[in-house]
Amino acid sequence: MNKTPIFQLNDGNRIPALGFGVFQVPTEGATYNAVLKAIDLGYRHIDTAVAYFNEEEVGRAVKDSGVAREEIWITSKMWLQDYAYEDAKQAIETSLSKLGVDYLDLYLLHQPYGKLSEAWKAMVEAKAAGKIRSIGVSNMTSTLWTKWQQQGLFDEMRPSVNQVEFNPYFQQKELRKLMAENQVILEAWGPLGQGNVELFNESALQRIANKYNKNVGQVILRFEHQEGIIVFPKSVHKERMQSNQDIFDFELTSDEMDSIRSLDRGQGRHNPDAAGVEEMLLSAFDVHKQD
Ligand code: NDP
Repeated sequence: MNKTPIFQLNDGNRIPALGFGVFQVPTEGATYNAVLKAIDLGYRHIDTAVAYFNEEEVGRAVKDSGVAREEIWITSKMWLQDYAYEDAKQAIETSLSKLGVDYLDLYLLHQPYGKLSEAWKAMVEAKAAGKIRSIGVSNMTSTLWTKWQQQGLFDEMRPSVNQVEFNPYFQQKELRKLMAENQVILEAWGPLGQGNVELFNESALQRIANKYNKNVGQVILRFEHQEGIIVFPKSVHKERMQSNQDIFDFELTSDEMDSIRSLDRGQGRHNPDAAGVEEMLLSAFDVHKQD
């Protein structure tokens, strides 16, 4: 088992640089089993969200794992519907209760629209109250970041992370510059391109994988790690869960890093700046449908 390196956030907290993502892992036991297995294999960082509808199973698995709560980093995310101040306060309490924990390690505003300043105020207060250790944002493009920053959103407290789509085809070069200037660490969602077969077939990646006796997934994740990005690949298969975290016993050369950097297409699957995204997301995920 490889020891996962730690990155330090701008608020001083220390986050495991690799974790396990549970987007699209079903409930009725599947998330519970996957998280229990991941922890057993050595993962110490789980990334969930209200809109994944599986916080409860994540919490149960953490509890039943036998590993101390403080040894496992838990991230969740507030959904757009709850950004009004009172709703946001309630959303934090609901996540704590569903996860069955006294505190969250990291809570993110999942989407950068709507009553963001009211939600951020609730987040800052929850951090001060010790309910959340670190707070951050997600899907924040440079355009949206600049807009919100100019409106003073981050005057009282800056986010510690920005979780965005990232893989060798979409390397977020402009955003990374802006985040570095603001000391905000990038987290990659879809670090494996969500299993994109074309990406896995890239000859440059296959060549590097052969050289190190690793698989392409490991080369991609290693590349992202060496770029200073936090990753939490998702898999429901034990062998992949195992191999996805086995990336800390080799190092890509600067030429290899450059050859992977050159795969960048500057465009991802999801464009948070596009018109109508907020409405599309609200209609796709109703986190209160069972209330
Ligand atoms: P990933 O890039 O992690 O890819 C997951 C897919 O790749 C699954 O289909 C999985 O299949 C497959 N896979 C996993 N490991 C391998 C491997 N070694 N070789 C080949 N295929 C593999 O995509 P995600 O969208 O899951 O992103 C990771 C996490 O990021 C999410 O789980 C979630 O926590 C977060 N996220 C956040 C978003 C946001 O808006 N903030 C949006 C999307 C994700 P299988 O399970 O069958 O192995």
